[in-house]
Amino acid sequence: MSGTVWDDWLAERAALRVERGTVRSDPVLRDVGGRAPLDLASNDYLGLSRDPRVVAAAHAAIDRHGAGATASRLVTGTLPVHRELEAALAQLTGQTSALVFSTGYAANLGVLTALSGRGAEILLDEHAHASLHDAARMSRVPYATFRHNDVADLDTLLAARRGSRVVVAVESIYSVLGDAAPLVALAEAVARHDALLVVDEAHGIGVAGQGRGLVAEVGLAGAPSVVVTATLSKSLGSQGGAVLCRSEVREHLVNTARSFIFDTGLAPAAAGAAAEAARLVASDPSLAERVRSNAALISGICGIDQSAGAVQSIPMPSPGSAVAACLELRERGVLVGCFRPPSVPDGVSRLRVTARADLSPAEVEAAARLVAEVATRHEEHPRPNPQSSV
Ligand code: PMP
Repeated sequence: MSGTVWDDWLAERAALRVERGTVRSDPVLRDVGGRAPLDLASNDYLGLSRDPRVVAAAHAAIDRHGAGATASRLVTGTLPVHRELEAALAQLTGQTSALVFSTGYAANLGVLTALSGRGAEILLDEHAHASLHDAARMSRVPYATFRHNDVADLDTLLAARRGSRVVVAVESIYSVLGDAAPLVALAEAVARHDALLVVDEAHGIGVAGQGRGLVAEVGLAGAPSVVVTATLSKSLGSQGGAVLCRSEVREHLVNTARSFIFDTGLAPAAAGAAAEAARLVASDPSLAERVRSNAALISGICGIDQSAGAVQSIPMPSPGSAVAACLELRERGVLVGCFRPPSVPDGVSRLRVTARADLSPAEVEAAARLVAEVATRHEEHPRPNPQSSV
């Protein structure tokens, strides 16, 4: 990329971002006053990314298989550690089989593109994750959205598509709002119309259903018209993605999901770590209980409705007030997420505070009191024109 056309265009785009207050950046975390900040912004809900057993499993997988998978899964990139991971994930979630992808994003792309195709249509919850929206676009079939968690709206759209194979995609627990999907009613609607329900459990596994996910909690694990996608990068503390489904669907994905076929297999360290994390979550329900009780502590102190998962979402009156609160909290040693348009589905700026299982109630309480105090003050005195991105 060189020459004035590109320079002019990049400068114009940068100026537009400043004008709209949508500048983003990727800052490196730094210590505050010589101490690591308290992280209530990441997705390491169970604290497993630094758990010595998970770290040891990553080391062991590197020693066994090397640093990389070295090829796509269909060539020579399927290693014993991938099979172990798939078995551990299927067991954790109560599904018959699992297929591991290199990210949760790739898993969503793979599922929607491979399960749609000619004669199909896709319906998405309007607040579904960007990867599901991108996947719908890449599927090159007609797609539409239904109102968030509105089963009646979905029912109407399904009735109007009689005769098509319809794939419906939702999240189990929504990543920004923190609310849960009415999975049982959604599955009933989908069954009435002979459609297929894809549930993204990125924020449900490890937290809901004693760690087994919301699909298992509501009794839908193994339901023939439900396919689950997951990321290994949140509660499981590693990286990668997975699809949990019956074996016929797995076989179809192995043969047709382009984001599986044309992608290098998941790195051994990530696979080993995630397999160990999945086994730990399955054998220790107290991990999920701790994250839920810490989440209740945060929502109680911050005066918000408790969400279904680890994410607690505090609405702020303006993007400026959200950024200012977030920056002050960072200066005072607590990291929270700052979500504002265009990254928020409903256009409401928010602080996103995530509970963690590996913090004591006293640590969570002290941090939540600080968040509540700072959020309330910035709600009263919002600052316009955010220039800084967090
Ligand atoms: N789905 C949801 C709901 C997510 O929140 C995310 C991660 N932000 C993904 C999919 C993508 O997962 P990954 O980071 O593993 O690509």
